Amino acid sequence: MSETFTLSINGIQVTARKGQTLLEVARKHGIDIPTICYHPATQSNGLCRMCVVEVEGMRLLQPACVVPAQAEMKVRTDSPRVHRARKTILEMLASTADLSEAPEIQRMMQAYQADPSRFPEAEPRHIPPIDDNPMYVREYSKCILCWRCVQICAEDAQYTYAINFSGRGYHTRIDTFYGLPMTATTCVFCGQCVGVCPTDALEPKSEYLLEQGKYPFPFR
Ligand code: SF4
Repeated sequence: MSETFTLSINGIQVTARKGQTLLEVARKHGIDIPTICYHPATQSNGLCRMCVVEVEGMRLLQPACVVPAQAEMKVRTDSPRVHRARKTILEMLASTADLSEAPEIQRMMQAYQADPSRFPEAEPRHIPPIDDNPMYVREYSKCILCWRCVQICAEDAQYTYAINFSGRGYHTRIDTFYGLPMTATTCVFCGQCVGVCPTDALEPKSEYLLEQGKYPFPFR
């Protein structure tokens, strides 16, 4: 039988099982913690930090998607410090990435009153769309580097390893190895990366061409 214990989230006593993350426990009890990089089909990586919470006795905010729940923990998911951290994360994302087709993130921005103009010197990424295959277009100006597509292409589902991070710092992006066209990689065009992308940075070619007013289209 799995080991169960109790902890406190926002002053409410909740039950958890050994091995559950704070995010899983909170959601099971109807307590909302916003997430961006987290996806139930991929391994949690704590990259975006949107799910940070305050844990009594821990100096730093903790990413709820990866931190395991423990007995007697006292967790706050909605403190002023947590709110400020999430607001800043959203502002930084919106100051560099095109989030026009990311409605969930836009809703979070409204909820946290995020104002990207607080970072007037931030440089939005302008990366031309990559249209190199018959199935989907990559618009990395919209990419927030959540890593979902890389994970689903690798051990989390497909074991294809067609894409990975490339570059460093501000110039970090998702790319194929050596920047090869997608048709020259191991990609099998399963479409799972498109399905998990939260910002429409990966878009089915039919939708992309429709938006461009170029539909119906000839496959190349
Ligand atoms: S392309 Fe989409 S899924 Fe991949 S890292 Fe960027 S935002 Fe995430």
